[in-house]
Amino acid sequence: MENQKCQNKCPRCQSEEVVKNGHIHNGKQRYICKQCGRQFVKDPQNKPVSDEQKALIDKLLLEKIPLAGIARVVGVSERWLQNYVNVVYDK
Ligand SMILES: [Zn+2]
Repeated sequence: MENQKCQNKCPRCQSEEVVKNGHIHNGKQRYICKQCGRQFVKDPQNKPVSDEQKALIDKLLLEKIPLAGIARVVGVSERWLQNYVNVVYDK
């Protein structure tokens, strides 16, 4: 899917009425939906996850940090991370 538009859309209600709302602590732009108030970071799950990020995730997992926290710090989606954990710890 290369013709995906880079429009900002609310992941919850699909509204395009979103405005910038500061940054999360890894520097990514954060948005807030004017329709439903949902805050989100644009498309973090559409980027391939680098080996560096995976190495960092492995380290953080050892520290027993909650998945939501790891996802925020590393910049991956929680869904992706949960899936990654399932695959890694299934071995
Ligand atoms: Zn919304």
